[in-house]
Amino acid sequence: MNILFAAFEADPFVKTGGLGDVAGSLPKAVASSSYDIRVILPLLSAIPDVYRKKMQFVCSYDVPLGWRNQYCGLFTLKQNGVLYYFLDNEYYFHREQVYGEFDDGERVAFFSKAVLETILHLDGFFPDILHCNDWHTALVPVFLKEQYRDVPGFSDIKTIFTIHNLKFQGKYTDYVIGDILGLQDTPAEHQLLSDPHTANYLQAASIYCDEITTVSPTYAEEICLPYYGEGLDWIFRERCENLVGILNGIDYKAWNPANDKNLPLNYDADSLKTKEKNKLVLQKELGLKEDAEIPLFVIISRLTEQKGLDLVNYLLPEIEYRNMQLAVLGVGDAEYENAFRYYAEKDPKKFAACIRFDNGLSHRMYAGADVMLVPSRFEPCGLTQMIAMRYGTLPLVRETGGLKDTVNETNGFSFVTFNADDMLYSIDCALDVYFNHPKRWRRMQHTAMAEDFSWKASAKEYRKLYNKLAKSF
Ligand code: ADP
Repeated sequence: MNILFAAFEADPFVKTGGLGDVAGSLPKAVASSSYDIRVILPLLSAIPDVYRKKMQFVCSYDVPLGWRNQYCGLFTLKQNGVLYYFLDNEYYFHREQVYGEFDDGERVAFFSKAVLETILHLDGFFPDILHCNDWHTALVPVFLKEQYRDVPGFSDIKTIFTIHNLKFQGKYTDYVIGDILGLQDTPAEHQLLSDPHTANYLQAASIYCDEITTVSPTYAEEICLPYYGEGLDWIFRERCENLVGILNGIDYKAWNPANDKNLPLNYDADSLKTKEKNKLVLQKELGLKEDAEIPLFVIISRLTEQKGLDLVNYLLPEIEYRNMQLAVLGVGDAEYENAFRYYAEKDPKKFAACIRFDNGLSHRMYAGADVMLVPSRFEPCGLTQMIAMRYGTLPLVRETGGLKDTVNETNGFSFVTFNADDMLYSIDCALDVYFNHPKRWRRMQHTAMAEDFSWKASAKEYRKLYNKLAKSF
């Protein structure tokens, strides 16, 4: 089976978030003699030279986009057994930022169109399935059905659209429908409009694709409800037969306390005493009181409303009053950054605020902490709770999305309602187990470390889905 996996970012070339992790890991995990899966990406200027130097130029062609004809260069690179296609266009992709440019609506439309045009130039590879990800590639199924259905073979191509975070949909003024997309006076015009003046790329993809997936079973259920549906729950309810949630995995090579080079000392489930030493070194690094007895809670996260930081913010005075420490690593909204900074200055032996992106420190925090806080308002999958468990750090989460699917009373702590008092109750439960039931704490650490969050299980589910579509060929 031939699968073309389209994404705007993929680790290790470019990564800004969870999508990069998934696009970097999933194709590798799926690939086998029966599944020829190739990845297609924009040749963004953020891609380091080490990879650019190894790429091979294949050919160039024009991509029609509304009234424009734009250049597209095709490069290939084989990495870890997967063939990557990179689409080059300096005008659209030679930018300071991966996202957040004034013309993102046109940049992603070009990429989506170019993905389809590229299929005409791939020697010996014709996709049975186009697997698209998030709003950046949402227009692929739309263009396929509206503008390529008469190209020989194209009407047989099946499409999967994976939603990594429904919050980001790609909404633009309706002007783009004619001028950029060239879809005026087609059925897509209506399917794109989320209100009379707004074109919504993700909405159209959710209607046009053959199968919708999202990144955890619970999130797949949640997005059918108005609270989580971001205005599109009606589509997911209508299409529930074609909607499935498949939990993401984590990269077991990159996240392994037994050989993680970022740690002062490596350890595994049989040497958890060494984890305590990592804690002492971390407390020293962060300027906290060096005492292995004090439970150290951490947050490693984008500091945004989604991540439930208003609950943490509200509870800071309560946390200050308890026998525990809290260290935060993250960047985001000024409101949260400043609250954490304030407490870190006020009581530096108890609170630490690292307001930056620091991969090395994140590894040391996963290893040195006792509890990882993830009180998200919504969480499509979430990686930090899974990474924490692999390091024997117990997660304390709100029961939503992937957090609900991965954390239970045997491997962590949780609360249901998005409410600071409920979260505080959970913190107190964790403190009680930590101080009064150390054997139970150890048992929970062992259970957490024994969980299998590798990509193996997810890859199996995606293969199942590919097979389901293949049956309908
Ligand atoms: P998101 O919604 O941001 O995709 P996830 O939990 O799925 O949340 O993934 C977050 C990833 O980013 C994790 O690997 C986490 O370790 C990492 N991360 C988040 N913030 C930081 C930071 N400030 N420094 C280092 N790594 C971070």
